[in-house]
Amino acid sequence: MSVPHYPAYINGRWVDTEQWYDLRSPATGEIVATVAKGGVAEIDRAVAAAKAAHEEGTWRRTPPEQRAALLEDVAGRLAARMDELAALQTRENGVTIRVTGALHIGLSVAQLQYIAQRARAYEFEKQGPEIGPVPAQGILRREPLGVVGAIVPWNIPLLVIVWKIGPALAAGNTVVLKPDEHAPLLALEVAKEFEAAGLPPGVLNVVAGDGEPAGAHLASHPDVRKVAFTGSTSVGRGILAGSADTIKRVTLELGGKGPNILLDDADLDVAIDGSLFACFANNGQACEAGTRLLVPRSRRDEVVSRLLARVATIKLGDPLDPATDLGPVITREQQQRILSYVDQAQRDGAKLVAGGGVPSGPEFEHGNWVEPTVLVDVTNDMPIAREEVFGPVLAVLAYDSVDEAIKIANDTEYGLSAGVWSADETRALDVARQLEAGMVYVNDWHVIHPQYPFGGVKQSGLGREGGPDALDHYTEQKYISVDRSGGVENKAYGLVLSPPVS
Ligand code: NAD
Repeated sequence: MSVPHYPAYINGRWVDTEQWYDLRSPATGEIVATVAKGGVAEIDRAVAAAKAAHEEGTWRRTPPEQRAALLEDVAGRLAARMDELAALQTRENGVTIRVTGALHIGLSVAQLQYIAQRARAYEFEKQGPEIGPVPAQGILRREPLGVVGAIVPWNIPLLVIVWKIGPALAAGNTVVLKPDEHAPLLALEVAKEFEAAGLPPGVLNVVAGDGEPAGAHLASHPDVRKVAFTGSTSVGRGILAGSADTIKRVTLELGGKGPNILLDDADLDVAIDGSLFACFANNGQACEAGTRLLVPRSRRDEVVSRLLARVATIKLGDPLDPATDLGPVITREQQQRILSYVDQAQRDGAKLVAGGGVPSGPEFEHGNWVEPTVLVDVTNDMPIAREEVFGPVLAVLAYDSVDEAIKIANDTEYGLSAGVWSADETRALDVARQLEAGMVYVNDWHVIHPQYPFGGVKQSGLGREGGPDALDHYTEQKYISVDRSGGVENKAYGLVLSPPVS
């Protein structure tokens, strides 16, 4: 099979850049595609195209229903290619095919459809209350911001992309999207579908390239009015600092260290599988994963032995095989980083009870593999409990009281997701209300839904993706007042001007 080539998409044209690179499968090391690599020049061209499309084009003046219809058209096109795109995503970033089908593509389609629905109902302009005693009429408008720079990671690319470009385009903005260099293909595929659906040139531009210089240049570009970023907290900090010069609007979706609290009455038939799902979904590379499992000391041994029995059944292997549970991690560098966290944890006093290494066998020779790993006797001061590992590594911590569990859960700079397991919903909700997180799951995990906002508190981010307010994040409020008095009576001029001398 010949290797496909992906140029950049700028101003409605597929353009090659001076540099290009081989995109390799994290599972096998094979070349999946060759990709044009954009740099400063391509980002400049893309931003100029997006700016011109915003200022001189028709998109922001296109009726919202038409913009919504175009999003629905794209959602339908993506749905029609579901299996093909899921396989492409799996080949590109190694996430197992069951997950790329349901979560990456399926949820992205639902998200686009939901945004279209919101755009149809959204009040882009409405009359406010009459202003007395003048009288005047107030009008409230929601206007697009202009050029949005969207920067996304490799782990769940399409969903993160539609969370951003869905509301951005629905609201009438134009976009420059910079996907991650390790997984740019779905961004370029989605651009093909927007082009086929008739999106005007320049409204969506996609340039794959490295974080430095392409991402950094886009994030600091003076003509970009908003940066919508998903990625690591360290890069997010830099983007927020860099936004000050031009007072950019910024949305940040950053890292997490999700605490997952098993209360002493949790139903382990559900909670054990649920806790492994929380940590190992997406090959252990999910920002809102439950990576710190907090168990009551009285039930610790029972929980650990049941966890280990279940971990032993996890099937590693070809992520394209629907029978596979766990695929590779994204790069060799990331594999080494994960393994070094596991080593460090043991030096810090944690005990390795499952995994911790690279699986053996011919199918694991060329990819970036890490066994599903469980560490017990972890304490919350250890780096394994404080830092984002971003791999299939579960840290188990014991607690003595629910208050202590909540304290441990909240003792982190992150605040993206958290979870509680209990047979008593009232008890679970009481704990859920005390957890510092943007999303708390009771007796489940990864319940990501278009109708609910996604995002974090503390250093996990700023703003939210999706949910009913998604369009608010991509519009600016404008207030217009229209005088209806027809004269000077009741006006405030007298505050400054004395009455005219007759
Ligand atoms: P990363 O921050 O290194 O990269 C993310 C994106 O930013 C990529 O497109 C990258 O090219 C770009 N980038 C890198 N350096 C940049 C710079 N200086 N300026 C501008 N852009 C730059 O993140 P990663 O390690 O590739 O992705 C995993 C991280 O993403 C994890 O921390 C994970 O928690 C986070 N994440 C968060 C969410 C969320 O919604 N909260 C979702 C998925 C992933």
